Amino acid sequence: MSRFGEARFLVSAARSAQFPPDRGVEIAFAGRSNAGKSSAINAILARRALARTSKAPGQTRLLNFFELAPERRIVDLPGYGYARVRARERLAWPPLIDALRARVSLRGLFLIVDARRGLADLDSALIDWAQPELRGVHVLLSKADKLTRSEGSRALQMARAALGARATVQLFSAMHDVGRAQAQQQLLSWLAESDQPGRERKDQQG
Ligand code: GDP
Repeated sequence: MSRFGEARFLVSAARSAQFPPDRGVEIAFAGRSNAGKSSAINAILARRALARTSKAPGQTRLLNFFELAPERRIVDLPGYGYARVRARERLAWPPLIDALRARVSLRGLFLIVDARRGLADLDSALIDWAQPELRGVHVLLSKADKLTRSEGSRALQMARAALGARATVQLFSAMHDVGRAQAQQQLLSWLAESDQPGRERKDQQG
């Protein structure tokens, strides 16, 4: 049974005025279009179709909020980097995503990266943009079932080298249960943060 059995859809926001009240703890999921983000969310929450997997890459333009428990949410960001919508995306989503980053409740970011492709510039840029404000960034190298064991190790090693101290990273597969427990543990540990702003605490800890 899911440890997130209460998960339910809250709202699709096209404007920051539509965001839920900025209380409690919120964890974001981001990634390039088609990286496997929706599949990862569903696998981590052990829900078949909470986050809808995309039919056409780059289709979703909204921020989707889900409630896992009272005052505990995840937010599914629009996939980025799809060539045909990139220009429009640049205009359309930075203010919305900036507004998300400004929320006190936003504590952690899961970044989904196709293990076969590795980190792209846009992924790195997103980490640099998000990391100073958050408790942590955790990268899921997705579709790990498509790699051999040695290819997986190599992908992990390269990602670790590229990320340094900016983020933690693991191999993940939504289809073959690679790294699911580890990802769930990361989510649970962020969700267990106190309701009070964690950002000051992070500053104090250095
Ligand atoms: P999103 O656009 O990032 O939300 O990606 P989706 O979750 O919609 O997945 C994009 C495509 O990758 C779909 O065809 C999925 O079936 C496939 N996919 C997602 N996760 C995995 C995985 O763990 N293993 C494999 N082999 N395919 C996956």
